[in-house]
Order: sequence, then C-alpha cells, then structure tokens
Amino acid sequence: MFEYAPAPESRSVVDIKPSYGLFIDGTFVDPADGGSFKSINPSSEEVLAEIAEGGAQDVDRAVRAARKAYDKVWGPMPGRDRAKYLYRIARIIQERSRELAVLESLDNGKPIKESRDVDLPLVAAHFFYYAGWADKLPHAGFGANPQPLGVAAQVIPWNFPLLMLAWKIAPALAAGNTVVLKPAETTPLTALLFAEICQQAELPAGVVNIVTGAGETGRALVEHDGVDKVAFTGSTDVGRAIARAVAGSRKKLTLELGGKAANIVFDDAPVDQAVEGIVNGIFFNQGHVCCAGSRLLVQESVAEQVLDSLKRRMAQLRVGDPLDKNTDIGAINSAAQLARIRELTEAGAAEGAERWSPPCELPDRGFWFAPTIFTGVTQAHRIAREEIFGPVLSVLTFRTPAEAVEKANNTPYGLSAGIWTEKGSRILWMADRLRAGVVWANTFNKFDPTSPFGGYKESGYGREGGRHGLEAYLNV
Ligand code: NAD
Repeated sequence: MFEYAPAPESRSVVDIKPSYGLFIDGTFVDPADGGSFKSINPSSEEVLAEIAEGGAQDVDRAVRAARKAYDKVWGPMPGRDRAKYLYRIARIIQERSRELAVLESLDNGKPIKESRDVDLPLVAAHFFYYAGWADKLPHAGFGANPQPLGVAAQVIPWNFPLLMLAWKIAPALAAGNTVVLKPAETTPLTALLFAEICQQAELPAGVVNIVTGAGETGRALVEHDGVDKVAFTGSTDVGRAIARAVAGSRKKLTLELGGKAANIVFDDAPVDQAVEGIVNGIFFNQGHVCCAGSRLLVQESVAEQVLDSLKRRMAQLRVGDPLDKNTDIGAINSAAQLARIRELTEAGAAEGAERWSPPCELPDRGFWFAPTIFTGVTQAHRIAREEIFGPVLSVLTFRTPAEAVEKANNTPYGLSAGIWTEKGSRILWMADRLRAGVVWANTFNKFDPTSPFGGYKESGYGREGGRHGLEAYLNV
C-alpha cells in the first residue's frame, strides 16, 4: 500500500459567518421567535455556525413572499427570461464551485474529491439543463401551453445537500414556479450560500426562499395552505407522514424515499470492474445514498473470487479528513446516523452474519465508521431488509438469473439496481424484471440531469431529472 502525505484542500476559500438568518423575499431575516441551532462539522464536531430555526410564522412569511413573486414576477415572466436567470445561477455555481465544494465537505463530511468532482459538476449541470427547458415547455410533451403549479414547498435530506437542492429548485423555476426550500438541519450551509448566489444573480425577490430548521419547520411548510406542490426527499417514514398530511388537498406531491438496492454480479462479469462498481455502489458518500448498492448479490460460482478481490480493494480505501484530496471515505454525517448504523450492524452480527472490515484507523474526534461487509447474510436478516444508510454491504449469493431477480425484488423498496455481466441479452432480460426505477448495467451510481430518477413501492413516486422531472412542476 502506498503511503500518502497529507493533501488538505484549503478552507480559506470559504467565509463562514458566525450566524445565518432565514432567506425570505430576497433578504436574510431573523426568525420571528429568535430560535436557532448549530451546524457542526461531523469530522471534528467543531461548531461551524449558528443557524436560524424557522417556525410557523416564518414559514407563512416565506410562502407569502413566494406567492407574491409568483403572481407578480416569475409566473408572468416569459420562459426565455427565466432561462437567463437559471443560466446565470449555473455559471455562478461553476465560478464558485471550489468554495461550494469545500463548504459542502465541511458541513456534510463527504470527501472533497466527491463534492468537487461529483456533486458540484452535477449541481451546475442541473441548472444548465433545466435553463434549457425554460423557453421550450410547449415542446416538452405536456400540451401546447403547460402552466406552472404556483408555490412549491421543498424538503431535502442531508446526504447530497446542494445536489438535492438543485434537483428541486432547477426544474421548479424552469417551469415557472416559485419555491420555499427547507434544507436538512445537519447540512444547511450550502443552501444558505446558494441564497447568496441568488442575490448575486439578481434573481427577483421571493422566487427562492430558504427556511432552515428541523422536522417541525418541514411539517409547517408542507402543511401550509398557501402551497400548491410538495416535493420531499428523505426517509420513508416521514414521506408517509407527508402523504397523509397532504391527502385530500389540492397539493401535488412527489416523494423520493429510501432504498435497498441489489448490485448483481454474474459469473461472466469482469471481476476487477465489478469490484470497482461494488465499492462505488456502497462506499461512495459513506453509503449515505438512497440508491446505494447495499445488497451485493453475487453468483455462487464466483463468490469467493469476488469477495477476495473486494477485501483486497477495501484494504486500500482511505478513511479520514474529508478535506484531504486523497480521502475515499469521509465522516458519518451525524451522531444520530452513526448510532443507527451501529445498531443495525450489531443486529447483523447478532443474527448470525459474519462481519469484516479492513484494518483501519479512525480519527478520535468526529463520527466515523469503517467500511464493513457482512457475508453469510440471509434474506430474513435485518441488514438485508432495512436501509442502513452507511458504509455497510450485505452479501448474498444466487445460482440462477431467476433466483437473482427473485432476491433483488424481495424488498419493500424499488429505487435502483445494478447488473454486472458480459451478456447484453442478460442485461435486458434482467432489467425487464427488476422492479427498480433505475437499473445500471456494468456501472453504478451514475447520474445525469437528462435522465429521470425515482422509485417504485416504498421508494416513493414521481420522477426527478430529465423531461419527466418537469411534469412534477407543471399542471398537466
Ligand atoms: P428524514 O426523513 O428524517 O429527513 C429528511 C428531511 O425531512 C429533513 O430536512 C428533515 O428536517 C425533514 N423532516 C423531518 N420530519 C419532517 C416532517 N414531519 N415533515 C416535513 N419534513 C420533515 O431523513 P433523515 O434523517 O435526513 O435521513 C434518514 C433516512 O432518510 C435514511 O436512513 C434514508 O432512509 C432516508 N433518506 C433517503 C434519501 C433519498 O434520497 N431517497 C436521502 C436521504 C435520506
């Protein structure tokens, strides 16, 4: 194994303020009741900033600002003019991408090489892509003159803070809606920097409002009467609560929830490539990925060979400082998430699965979990059924393609799946039978703004990305 000298990215490019207000009607304001919470760096537990906690009154103010902007400015504005603002935002994101990437890694704990090379390019690409649609909506296949819905309430999780913001805000604005977005309570900082970017782009006041806070703030937002559309990404439990809350109202709803994806490796797959795909599938972003390949289904005849290679590869993974450019696996996002990963992995061992991690030194401070695999997993084990949302892989085996399909679909979720094989016909045969919104062939965790993304069953409904992503924000 190579010895790597420390290669930390400088954090001097980011200017974190001691405290942040709510972004309402184009300016930062104090919350009505003055509440606040802290956002910390999960790799060091250092407090990064004090964040305003929005209450029902603040949510009301933000929704009113969004309504006014919708009625007076953004709704009536021709698509070609909305496009100019979106292109401007996309360009500023590119110009400030280093700053955004460092801030994302500080607040979320993800390795800088991922925030820099994956999250930020995708964020900019999303704004560029939907900017392109803003003046072409009559050609999107939703009728001659599709109309926006109005005010969109958007609630996002902490695993891809800025990317989830882009998935929500870019299509909503392109379609002519205005938004109130609530970032996750552990990762609000890049959304607040995005608010500054909206000011820099001279986006009309009230078109984008950012209200920070936790679950109660999110609840007040999705339940507000003045909202026409609710878009949520997060856990299946909260998704259910939101579906109940908006049932019977005029609000249109899309839900992007959890997953327990199968990554299926056949005996004719190129082992080295498959192993890279397995590692990317479960250890990318510390496994905090709704579409993570968290169940490896490997054909019995090659299981030993694949596992040997996988273990060798895992021993090369570098866990540590998210700002170090050589880091592969950063910090777990919060103490609560770390506790959940520990609880489920302990259940895995107690239920009889065999646990393995490479030797790996974890920092003393912060929230850390070594990359882990479980073999001897059965379909009844909790670690095969429940979403762990951490760097933990459950390995199962199969003998025939039909058994692989059966096991892959044996989950309440249906967000994604991966197939590794040399045979094109087998890829098509499998993809036809897998109940998953996205099926990757000989790759994993590949995202593109032109491609729709979303789930079946308890993974939610509606699609984000591509032409399909516009539908959720149009009256069709
Ligand atoms: P969560 O559902 O608790 O939180 C997601 C967002 O919803 C946060 O902004 C949170 O403040 C808000 N929220 C919480 N309660 C709410 C309520 N009653 N009404 C409105 N908003 C509310 O999820 P989490 O704790 O951030 O993550 C834990 C789980 O979420 C993971 O284990 C995984 O299952 C799931 N998850 C899925 C995705 C995905 O992309 N599909 C992404 C992240 C997390």
